[in-house]
Amino acid sequence: MTLKATEQSGHLVLPGERLGVIEEFIPDAGTYVKDGVIYSKIIGRALMDLMNKKVSVYPLNEGAVVPKLGITVIGQVGNAQSDNVLVRIFKVGKIKKKLSGVFSGILHISDVSDRYIDSMNEVCKPGDLIRAKVISEKNQIFHLSTADKNFGVIYGFCSVCGSTLEQKRHEMQCTKCGNIEKRKTAFDYGKEEL
Ligand SMILES: [Zn+2]
Repeated sequence: MTLKATEQSGHLVLPGERLGVIEEFIPDAGTYVKDGVIYSKIIGRALMDLMNKKVSVYPLNEGAVVPKLGITVIGQVGNAQSDNVLVRIFKVGKIKKKLSGVFSGILHISDVSDRYIDSMNEVCKPGDLIRAKVISEKNQIFHLSTADKNFGVIYGFCSVCGSTLEQKRHEMQCTKCGNIEKRKTAFDYGKEEL
């Protein structure tokens, strides 16, 4: 997946800095629009919410809770392709504090596991909650990894009926319709307090 420069998230912006156009994004907090172009109103971090197509700028301050390199995040799987998924990050580290904005991360198939993975289809599906590590902020995009037993799906949902999946020995089974699916789970699947 290639992201245009205007879709980069997390980078430092100055007042008057161009963030994108209204055809691409809905302007949100910390932005203003002039002649169809979205600009930053303040000094802060630009946040491009790829799923909701929103752009906002969050002021820089000490208490700002944002994903960083090396940190553990929890998010919901959004748009899925065969070799990557978008993740809507809603929790960072052990902090229960609300995040300073909405962050999007990308989990690429090569960062899922140390083993070879055939398709993202057997890793996670849209709607699942996953725990992952931020391994790169390259190009101001949060790249995630689940290549550790601590990381992977923590809550998975049946792609047929949406009910919770229960972990069986080598597969996942829907508690309602019995559908069998595959996931790359974290060792403590189903136990994280959200
Ligand atoms: Zn089901």
